Amino acid sequence: MSDQTFLAPERAAEHVSSTEQRTLRVLLAGPRGFCAGVDRAIRVVEEALRRYGAPVYVRHEIVHNRTVVEGLEAKGAIFVEELDEVPADGHVVFSAHGVPKAVPAEAERRNLLYLDATCPLVSKVHREAERHFAGGGPEQRHILMIGHAGHPEVVGTMGQLPQGAVTLINDADEARSVQPEDPSRLAFITQTTLSVDDTAEIVDILRTRFPDIEGPRREDICYATTNRQEAVKAIAPESDLVIVIGSPNSSNSQRLREVAERSGARRALLVPKLADLDWSVLEGVETLGISAGASAPETLVQEMVVALSEHFVLQIEERIVKKENVSFRLPGPLATSAD
Ligand code: SF4
Repeated sequence: MSDQTFLAPERAAEHVSSTEQRTLRVLLAGPRGFCAGVDRAIRVVEEALRRYGAPVYVRHEIVHNRTVVEGLEAKGAIFVEELDEVPADGHVVFSAHGVPKAVPAEAERRNLLYLDATCPLVSKVHREAERHFAGGGPEQRHILMIGHAGHPEVVGTMGQLPQGAVTLINDADEARSVQPEDPSRLAFITQTTLSVDDTAEIVDILRTRFPDIEGPRREDICYATTNRQEAVKAIAPESDLVIVIGSPNSSNSQRLREVAERSGARRALLVPKLADLDWSVLEGVETLGISAGASAPETLVQEMVVALSEHFVLQIEERIVKKENVSFRLPGPLATSAD
């Protein structure tokens, strides 16, 4: 898991150079940043590099964060989009988002040595989908997947079953209009990184329209997504601006930005890293909330706080709504008793 410590106010104060600097109150959301699935996926690549040597190929960004990807590239990882870019004797890692079944099948066909860094909480949704499909037998249900079209996790989850077995529901309107062939034999699953509130609305619509639908008690949104959204809700009402550190292609980071705005922040912005910050957005801001998506390392938060401390006298408060103590073992071939 990531180190959740932040720059201590005393240390931040060391950076104050002028008595004319104005005060900025900073509310740090906790938990924020790396989740157990991201932490594990990065360890998979690092351990593969240690055991097998560079290069190790990684299919798709291992997690949606450029800083993480560039850090692994510097250590010898090569990121590819498809398996045909991997040489015959190469080691290849599948990303935390999961992959359609066709991908490991193709890796086996090509005799590639592959390691699966799919987050165990995404794999759990894969197994749920398979259970509802029930091998295409008499218990089979058609599956409605709540998620965002094109996201790699959605592609991977839908790809666990034959084409046509899963219908994607992108939003509440689609939940209202979907016309399944047999409304009495349905199940739903969800992407793990959705907005908790939006998904609750969609699930309500589906349960009302299709009372026999099977599914998880609420949804499949993971603990990390849920906790980070709760933490942002706790700081947003007091914040003139909330900065979410995360990449634009990171689903959970995008959701955090939306949650901040809906929960009372005057404005919320996604900022991939310090260099992308437009300092003019801080004009008139007296209280700044900061969070980070599940794929953003804590170092990016600390860099941001240090830079802020060079422009303002900071009053830092960390608001922790939940302590997390989750970690996942490395997958089979890399697992050791120390994991
Ligand atoms: S956000 Fe949730 S599902 Fe995704 S990698 Fe992290 S723990 Fe796993």
